[in-house]
Amino acid sequence: MNYEPVIGLEIHAELKTRTKMFCGCLNDPDEKHPNINVCPVCLGHPGTLPVPNKSAIESVLKLGLTLDSKIPEESKFDRKNYFYPDLPKGYQISQYDQPLVLGGELNAVRITRIHLEEDTGRLVHEAYSMKHEAEKNVSGFGLHASSLVDFNRAGVPLMELVTEPDIKSGDETVRFAKELQLILRYLKISDADMEKGQMRVEVNISLGQIIDGKLQMGTKVEIKNLNSFKAVGDAIDYEIKRQAEVLEAGKEVVQETRGWNEGQGKTFSQRFKEESHDYRYFPEPDIPPMELSRELSRFNLDNLKIEIPELPAQKRKRFAEEYGLNEEQTEILVSDRRLAEFFEESVSELKSQLPITNYQLLINYLTSDLTGLMNQEGISISELKITPEHLAHLVAMIEKKELTSRMAKDVLAEMIATGLDPHEIIKEKGIAQVSDEDSIKKVIEEVIAENPVAIKDYKKGKQNALQFLIGKTMAKLKGQGNPEVIAKILNNKLR
Ligand code: ADP
Ligand code: ZN
Ligand code: MG
Repeated sequence: MNYEPVIGLEIHAELKTRTKMFCGCLNDPDEKHPNINVCPVCLGHPGTLPVPNKSAIESVLKLGLTLDSKIPEESKFDRKNYFYPDLPKGYQISQYDQPLVLGGELNAVRITRIHLEEDTGRLVHEAYSMKHEAEKNVSGFGLHASSLVDFNRAGVPLMELVTEPDIKSGDETVRFAKELQLILRYLKISDADMEKGQMRVEVNISLGQIIDGKLQMGTKVEIKNLNSFKAVGDAIDYEIKRQAEVLEAGKEVVQETRGWNEGQGKTFSQRFKEESHDYRYFPEPDIPPMELSRELSRFNLDNLKIEIPELPAQKRKRFAEEYGLNEEQTEILVSDRRLAEFFEESVSELKSQLPITNYQLLINYLTSDLTGLMNQEGISISELKITPEHLAHLVAMIEKKELTSRMAKDVLAEMIATGLDPHEIIKEKGIAQVSDEDSIKKVIEEVIAENPVAIKDYKKGKQNALQFLIGKTMAKLKGQGNPEVIAKILNNKLR
């Protein structure tokens, strides 16, 4: 039987606002001390009132404008009621039937909606400690580890984007999620780090069948707790196989929520639809509905549009055209907005030094040597001491043959360590390319006198003998000789 995978996504992202969604507490994902960024509002104390965070709403509207979505005239918040220890109020303020954003498209996948809600606290299940080990032994009732709750994350703005079931494979899903992550970062509305739980991808997946040319949808399964792109792709591939086997065996796929076991590479059943909640949604009475696209709206959509930067898709196209980069180079730059900016700032400095139209050397230094050293030192582009100007100066010197690539390596390492301009480093360290023919000639005469065998070989026509002699000369010049001048003089001498 031929099955058609049908996939729809629900993606949550924590917004990078200064304060939380409905109170003035700091929204600080790096806060390590539990229950520091809390107040009566986000702890759900009776009598407190939520005040919506305008910048969180604007972030979601901006994303909607980016994805060609519709911004409705009016939107409202609703209460989603359920009981769980990480939810202090016993309900979550979310949005039900009037989300902030409707429709839109990304990578040819239709967006259903984007809404805003508040995140929950974080449950910390205490580690299997000696103390609990002792308790277990005494009571004989198994592990008595306690659970703690940290409310620093409670009330942090969380957006949820829902797609139509337009996706057909794991690869396509990963591409969609990565592109969304990139857009969230370009818009600077979320860091969207999957490993840190700042972006959470929930996959809805079913197998359909084409009957009389029409797709008949199957029963869907929801997969949760996927905390990397790899897990998303692997879980989908596994689930497509599992559901196909169920159907092939003449059984039915059960509608359920499944988790992902990374170690075993398998999804597993978590809970069935029968137990699913009735959330008893109703309009949040403490927050009036919001005017969005109407005349009297507090939200200026035109201004928000102006704040949208050049998007990854546009940047890819422009970089390929303007700088003649290949797909791989373009992707390295575009996948990090800061790196792309660094590149363009370097280009403009380089152009002011040289009449240059080929940026391969700059690209190579940026994406291979520099990135390599950064990885080695464990620093990111924002922590880098090197400025785009300094990198441009280095490349200009290489282009002008004032520096060999061998020397450039050492200079670059110095630049990373000190943050100094390459010109200064060269002056300070006395590194300078020896191009003056007299000094090179003197060294070459020594090399010729010391290597009679190589000279004979060369005269017999062995080309690598020349390389050997250039190497010997370079070594005597401590790597600072101009290789072209050395080759020229050697050739003349040996002719
Ligand atoms: P529910 O009512 O179970 O929450 P929704 O209709 O709200 O379901 O859809 C939730 C997500 O599941 C959406 O991303 C949607 O595209 C996707 N989805 C809906 N039906 C299917 C299906 N048959 N197969 C795969 N995904 C589906
Ligand atoms: Zn608070
Ligand atoms: Mg739903």
